[in-house]
Amino acid sequence: MPEVPGVPPAQQLLVGLARLGQAVRIDAWRNNGPHNLSPLQADIVTFLAEQTGPRRQGDVVGALASTPPTVSDAVKALRAKGLLESVRDPQDGRATVVRLTPEGDAEARRLGDVSQVMSEAFSVLSEADLAAMLRGTATIMKGLQDRQAIPVSRMCLTCRFFRPNAHPHDAARPHHCAFVDAPFGDAELRVTCPDHQDRD
Ligand code: SF4
Repeated sequence: MPEVPGVPPAQQLLVGLARLGQAVRIDAWRNNGPHNLSPLQADIVTFLAEQTGPRRQGDVVGALASTPPTVSDAVKALRAKGLLESVRDPQDGRATVVRLTPEGDAEARRLGDVSQVMSEAFSVLSEADLAAMLRGTATIMKGLQDRQAIPVSRMCLTCRFFRPNAHPHDAARPHHCAFVDAPFGDAELRVTCPDHQDRD
């Protein structure tokens, strides 16, 4: 009987991830919302919403792996749309930081909703498959972060509150978050979390 020619799964996975990245980008253009946000502007709003306070523009550049002029243009556009404001850095009076306005916060909440197209596409997966994909994605992200190939994310796998497999007899919720002092499973792993604190 003929055999299906072998192709390295990592190679196929990379192709699949690239296609998914395209789909996410297209989805962002489709869901540009009332402020007609570009994907980069949406990323900046989402990034600032995840922070505990204002951030310097350079932090935005690093977190989004962009360039200073590109982020500067996007910040200018967001300011003109009333979603973001620049204020003096309380730590250094000569520097400025950016933060969301109340309208920017509302836009961040809108961006946090998964679009209908995406939720329909995800709905074919079981909870277990979604959890496994999330675990795999987080693990690959950490590997890339360790190699400084992608910007650092505030994720469970690098958080000082994360206790992996602290509850080995609880198959559904084997991990523990010491911040909220509660067990959780792969399906609740965070790849971005406002309460994250770096393990190092
Ligand atoms: S604080 Fe957030 S990132 Fe840290 S372990 Fe808990 S849920 Fe994960």
